[in-house]
Amino acid sequence: MNQSLQGIGMTSRRTRERMVKRLIEQGIRNRKVLDVMRDTPRHIFVDEALASRAYEDNPLPIGYNQTISQPYIVAKMTELLIKVGHLKKVLEIGTGCGYQTAVLAQFADHVYTVERILPLQRKAKEHLWEMKIKNVSYIHNDGGWGWPEYAPFDGILVSASPTEIPETLLQQMGMGGVMVIPIGEGGGRQVLQRVIRSESGFEVEDIEPVSFVPFLSGRE
Ligand code: SAH
Repeated sequence: MNQSLQGIGMTSRRTRERMVKRLIEQGIRNRKVLDVMRDTPRHIFVDEALASRAYEDNPLPIGYNQTISQPYIVAKMTELLIKVGHLKKVLEIGTGCGYQTAVLAQFADHVYTVERILPLQRKAKEHLWEMKIKNVSYIHNDGGWGWPEYAPFDGILVSASPTEIPETLLQQMGMGGVMVIPIGEGGGRQVLQRVIRSESGFEVEDIEPVSFVPFLSGRE
């Protein structure tokens, strides 16, 4: 690994081990999730000026009024999504800076990621390129449409909060598929939900309160 990916000082392996220790204290159990969180260089996804804070458990600004998700949330959502094991096709709504995408790409054959703000998507592509992650397809679109050409998906992960689960996304879940999605308005009254599709329908489980940016329609 080259030095910028490996990190030094506040982005070094030791700092990352501390982050992993915190994730364990917060209840993350899956060994592979913990390994991937340690090995994914979160500092390359944020502005250089914020790199020294990259392994703290906070969301950080990535421009355009958006934030990179906090490590705990990325780990938790990934753990919830991969409950059934390795995934073939995953749809992600809200690429942002691409950090969650980079984590997901290590648990799936292919990730299809949708972002409505074009400059963010461009940056995400650069970051994943730098990490040599190639099993990702990107589209600049309103994620409310999902990505029908590649449906059905066995995992769907949504990183912005709509007020209800979009019907289109439910329809793009395969049988046995899992969706992890925050639901609710801004202001801390959102809840993280996991949806599992089976022959008998959609089973929805409330996981815990969360705080995400709103799920917006249209493109920028
Ligand atoms: N997981 C990302 C989080 C980014 S914040 C990361 O780690 O960086 C959520 C992202 O969702 C923002 O980039 C926002 O532009 C995007 N978003 C919000 N509503 C969307 C929609 N309807 N379709 C696609 N992207 C959307």
